[in-house]
Amino acid sequence: MPRIVKLNDRIQYLQVSYEPLSADVVTVRGDSAWWIFDVGACDMAVDFINALPRNPANDDAVPLKKNIVISHFHRDHLLNVVRHCNGEVSLDFDTLYVGSHASKVVGEISGHEKITVSSPLSFDDGMHIEILPIPNSHAKGSLILVVDDFVFLGDATYPMVGHGEPDVYNVQILEQQIKMLKSLTASRFCLSHKRGLVRDKSSVIQFLESVLARRQKNENYIVA
Ligand SMILES: [Zn+2]
Repeated sequence: MPRIVKLNDRIQYLQVSYEPLSADVVTVRGDSAWWIFDVGACDMAVDFINALPRNPANDDAVPLKKNIVISHFHRDHLLNVVRHCNGEVSLDFDTLYVGSHASKVVGEISGHEKITVSSPLSFDDGMHIEILPIPNSHAKGSLILVVDDFVFLGDATYPMVGHGEPDVYNVQILEQQIKMLKSLTASRFCLSHKRGLVRDKSSVIQFLESVLARRQKNENYIVA
């Protein structure tokens, strides 16, 4: 059974679940909005997002908006937005932030604002929030979400899935990714689909560097 895990007073996530495969859904309570990273593919994820209260405890306060950020276009991360567009489920949200490829998959979306992110965005919402495109081998147009000391990476540190062929990293892209990740000041790296989600920045970078160290001369790809 999926579990809801609290990372601190403002951040929690619904753990990955299976049948259908549904990625972790992270929710962050800002001062003006909920920031939701990925929407999963199962009904429980829809209920989890819809149950986030828009009315803060203080009645004078402005109701919270709900902003969704999609890490990448794979269905275990995105499907509930597509189901919402099809009328299959009703997902409660205002603004959708997507990368270039996920934007094409979602298409036109009525009644909501859709923002296609191609360069870094940052927000001050009681916490420091950034939405950043990231070089990665896994999925075109992937985005990551930075919240204070946390970085939610989705599947961006994973290889390109080979579907029968080996899974691979692109050498140049991996170099760019390591450089970018090193430049981040946040230290808690959260990888989708992993038990425990939160990793140390250094251990994630160390792992990626160990992959890069296996590169062969004149080869563009490294088998994962
Ligand atoms: Zn993926």
